[in-house]
Amino acid sequence: MGKFVSKASRGDKRAARTCKGKGGDVIFEGEDDVDSEDSDFEESQSDDGDVDSDDESDIGDFIVEEEELESMRDDIHDMSFEDCLDGSSKRDKNYKNGKVYVEQPYGSIKLEPWLIFTDMEAFLDVLRDYCIQEGFGLSVEKADSRRYTVVCAVEGCDWRIHASKMVDKFSWTIKSLTGEHRQCGRLEVNPIVTTKWLVGKLLPEIEANLDIPVLTLKKMTQQKYRIQVKTRLFYKVKALAKEVINGSFSESYALIPRYAEMIKETNPGSYALITWHSDPGDGFLKGCRPIIGIDGAHLSGFFKGILLSALGIDGNNEIFLLAYGVVDTESWNYFMRNLRALFEREGCSRDDWTFISDH
Ligand SMILES: [Zn+2]
Repeated sequence: MGKFVSKASRGDKRAARTCKGKGGDVIFEGEDDVDSEDSDFEESQSDDGDVDSDDESDIGDFIVEEEELESMRDDIHDMSFEDCLDGSSKRDKNYKNGKVYVEQPYGSIKLEPWLIFTDMEAFLDVLRDYCIQEGFGLSVEKADSRRYTVVCAVEGCDWRIHASKMVDKFSWTIKSLTGEHRQCGRLEVNPIVTTKWLVGKLLPEIEANLDIPVLTLKKMTQQKYRIQVKTRLFYKVKALAKEVINGSFSESYALIPRYAEMIKETNPGSYALITWHSDPGDGFLKGCRPIIGIDGAHLSGFFKGILLSALGIDGNNEIFLLAYGVVDTESWNYFMRNLRALFEREGCSRDDWTFISDH
């Protein structure tokens, strides 16, 4: 065995992770001999049986519980890598047995021994897509930071995949893929479907139309991914997707003031100004009587000054703040000029306003 492999394969605590679903018979065959394990995997047969899920908690993750299996027999044999470790091996030599996974569209994802993934997460992502595509659940036999062995969740099915970390310490590859789903049927409600997975898949659609109805999302999921997901979960999916979308917007907007400063700093002579207001003033024109109360209040804080404000009364007889400004002296001219500009900008041309002031 290669140095790295043998060191890592002994004495490490291993966590076995199991997935919800029926436990499958586990058979660990002789390992990793790719030549003798040409993929005899075939697509599972599918039916349109409508399996119903009881609860949101059915949408689980790969990992539901963890237990340590210290005594687990070390039956991973990384012999094939030893050939690569000839003392002068370069990284590409590690890959001589395999081929790097290239993204395949959902529906035509195929797995085979010696497919190489950039890291464990990439492998798990593809495996998840593949299982959902093929319509079967997983039962985890062995999973830790350097190897991952799962079987089909259906009892008696001999489908099994084993993948592990490569000698470069970050890439992952499928070491063996055996068995086939003979009588597993298609799992319409697949426990490995998570809201996170759905958000990832449906994000482009939600981004294109933030008001997309949840039933449309449900229908798309049924048609494209051939899985059943409870309608109410799509509300959650939509909310999470909006968080992702709006989050990125607000983060971008938050950078604008800094951007303006950078423009001024790096392009001398440039003029950059950021202003904003939280209310377009529209509510006043649509929902308030044509009465404007104006007043000024002296500020007693460190900077002093005068707060000028214009208020209306809305349909509920409540105060509607129309505009306010902080000035050095009571310069109503400046304030009213800007207020008129605001009205003009909003397309308001009426001139029968009633003003109330204490003067
Ligand atoms: Zn199966």
